[in-house]
Amino acid sequence: MGYDRVMAQREYDFIVLGGGVAGLAAGYRLCKAGKSVLMLEKDKRIGGLAKTLNINGFLFDYCAHRFHSANPGVMQEMRDLMGPNFVEHRQKSRIYLFNKYLKYPFEMQNLLRAMPKIEAVRCAFDFAWNTLIRGFNKREIKSYADWFEYFFGKRFYKFMCYPYTRKIWGMDPQYLSADWANQRFKGPDIPKLIRTVLKKICTLNFSSFSLEDEEFLPDSGLFYYPIHGGIQAMPDRFAEEVQKHGGIIHTGVNVSSISAKTRTVIFEQDGMTQRATANHGLISTIPLHAYTALLEEPVPAQVTENLRQLRYMDIIFVFLFVDKERISNDTWLYFPDKDIAFNRAVEFKNWSSDMAPPNKTSLCLDITVTPENRHFWGMSEKDLIEKCKQDCEMLGLCTSKEVFDFKAVRIPHAYPVYDLEYRPKLDSILQFIESFEGVYCIGRTGVFRYNNSDNSIEMGLELGKRLADEPVRGKSMRSYEFSGVSY
Ligand SMILES: Cc1cc2nc3c(=O)[nH]c(=O)nc-3n(C[C@H](O)[C@H](O)[C@H](O)COP(=O)(O)OP(=O)(O)OC[C@H]3O[C@@H](n4cnc5c(N)ncnc54)[C@H](O)[C@@H]3O)c2cc1C
Repeated sequence: MGYDRVMAQREYDFIVLGGGVAGLAAGYRLCKAGKSVLMLEKDKRIGGLAKTLNINGFLFDYCAHRFHSANPGVMQEMRDLMGPNFVEHRQKSRIYLFNKYLKYPFEMQNLLRAMPKIEAVRCAFDFAWNTLIRGFNKREIKSYADWFEYFFGKRFYKFMCYPYTRKIWGMDPQYLSADWANQRFKGPDIPKLIRTVLKKICTLNFSSFSLEDEEFLPDSGLFYYPIHGGIQAMPDRFAEEVQKHGGIIHTGVNVSSISAKTRTVIFEQDGMTQRATANHGLISTIPLHAYTALLEEPVPAQVTENLRQLRYMDIIFVFLFVDKERISNDTWLYFPDKDIAFNRAVEFKNWSSDMAPPNKTSLCLDITVTPENRHFWGMSEKDLIEKCKQDCEMLGLCTSKEVFDFKAVRIPHAYPVYDLEYRPKLDSILQFIESFEGVYCIGRTGVFRYNNSDNSIEMGLELGKRLADEPVRGKSMRSYEFSGVSY
């Protein structure tokens, strides 16, 4: 008899689908409360989007991850979990506009100085006028374009918002829901902004456009990042704790079916088929499409149609190994120009010296795959790298000769796409999935929410806390509100 025909059967208090930080945080909380937990992860390694690859002494995150939470409880939990490996950094980022490296988030006087003079004057007047009349503007804020124009006016929108947003999402910010901005950014403190600009102008304090510029923005955010191990250190610490408290984590698993009614999951691992039942709760952190495709129960036609219309965006990470001590001193570099293949560049050495061997450095370039640049997804690794190397050379980051190795990683379902109609469709899908008693969805792909890792962790910890208290009813995280914007 082949191994694949052996069917082991087990029962647990909880089963968690997906070993990203949301699932791990939920598993951690539940195990610590004495519950038996089984975690099932499709990939060979845990971590999901917060993963780090180790290639010949170079550590590459799936794009660098800065960690910060507006929830003091989550911050404390993470400091305790990570111990001395978690250190505080200050963000320093630039954006390439008008052929110059400008401070980012934008510093008003830095931006105005980089613009053609006539445009700078127009923008300044438009901004001043917009600020004066803003209180009387009763227009409904539906899209990201509405949100941005409400705070900064139409002229700044053209330079500060449109090009980069259009490039990342492949869609006009008019069609992107304002929910994205509300979850992501705080509205600006206009009086403070004006005071800062005037002070800088009066004291003739104009920062440079050089990549070597060491000056931080006055409000540059603080964040945490591990000294050792890249961002993977975070999921790894959760996993250690889960296992220490008796939880089981299976990786490289192929889930073949889910019965939501009985909370039973059938999966294969190492050629063996197993059946596991969750007596108290089944927690899904996997993409909504993947979860519903595995269901034994029939999915209503309207839910299937809504799923068809809900879109995740894929991403490609291009990792370059560079024979150079340093490229810049920035946390991130942003590239809104549509002719440049990538949106952002991250030099990991600026996050921790552990990330590259001495005298060498590396870059992670991210390319979101939109309907407009879909050809990148199928492009050969050689052609993709060639294009990235050319762009890096043109931008003055490194020469093609200095790049001595490379790797491209393609990740599906990396970003939920918030178009203007997504909300009711999402609600109907989540309502259906959670209509089965004891089934819960959390996480970035799991609830189609533009989570940062802290948000996913917060959801996991909170759900774990709610479920650890019997009885298991009314604990859904569907409409959970975060404590605030983390960045
Ligand atoms: C480019 C980029 C940059 C980012 N930068 C930051 C940042 O600077 N700071 C920050 O805090 N956050 C950042 N994030 C967000 C952060 O990565 C995510 O919020 C977080 O990692 C999501 O964790 P999760 O557990 O919710 O989801 P995921 O990490 O997506 O976990 C879901 C897991 O489910 C598994 N899975 C999928 N299908 C199945 C299946 N059928 N069976 C079993 N398992 C399955 C997946 O393999 C995955 O491990 C960034 C994300 C991206 C894409």
